[in-house]
Amino acid sequence: MRPVKKLLFSLVFLLCLAAPALADKASDLDLIRRYFPQAVASVTPDGLVLSDGARLVYDDGRAKDAEAALDDTDIEDMLAQPYPLERVTAEPAPGFHPGRRRVVALFKAAYGYDAAEVKANLVPVSFLGKTVLFNQRNGAAQSLEAVGRDLAAVLAAHPEYKAHVQPLSGTFAWRPIAGTERLSMHSFGAAIDLNAKKNGYWRWYTGNNPLKLRTDFPAEVAEVFERHGFIWGGKWAEFDIMHFEYRPELIAKAQGR
Ligand SMILES: [Zn+2]
Repeated sequence: MRPVKKLLFSLVFLLCLAAPALADKASDLDLIRRYFPQAVASVTPDGLVLSDGARLVYDDGRAKDAEAALDDTDIEDMLAQPYPLERVTAEPAPGFHPGRRRVVALFKAAYGYDAAEVKANLVPVSFLGKTVLFNQRNGAAQSLEAVGRDLAAVLAAHPEYKAHVQPLSGTFAWRPIAGTERLSMHSFGAAIDLNAKKNGYWRWYTGNNPLKLRTDFPAEVAEVFERHGFIWGGKWAEFDIMHFEYRPELIAKAQGR
């Protein structure tokens, strides 16, 4: 091959390699803009500008292992692991936990910067005969209310599921995730725990069959939440069977929207 032709050939090859990454970046940034409309002011070539003026870079260029990606998350990390809409049939690979990587600055801009501000954004939501507090911003409270309506129908048809769901174990609590300094989605009033006594959490679990915990939990209940933009902690390697959090961007990405 002649040198010029060879050079052109290599250039085209490199562009082909880079194109999917560029497409991911553009569609990921657009996804965040669409699902955090109040928090995002604009999309830039390399990231986002938040409504508070802060800039978020899409890819900080740092190499991270699964643990570091939890503490030092950029937008690319947050969306890198696809949330599975399928039912759980096998243990997830270690470090597979779509949704546990969160860009905290984005959630603060979306839901409130501190406990007082989040509290001011909480509204009562009627949920399975109880009233719970949930964040009214970003469509979170409205989506939880829709979950409650659909879930009531599922529980009426399957009373045996009730023990996995009730009593409810809480929504808003400004607190870090156990064993970490990271704020949990409960801090933003955008997560709900179902019956904590019945369900399992990886840190306190002493059994040897976590897959059974995951498959014992009624898949139809998880699917109701997913339909309305919530992800289930039962699909994480570090499982949190009682936990559902409002992450419409991950559900939309999983659905190819
Ligand atoms: Zn929780």
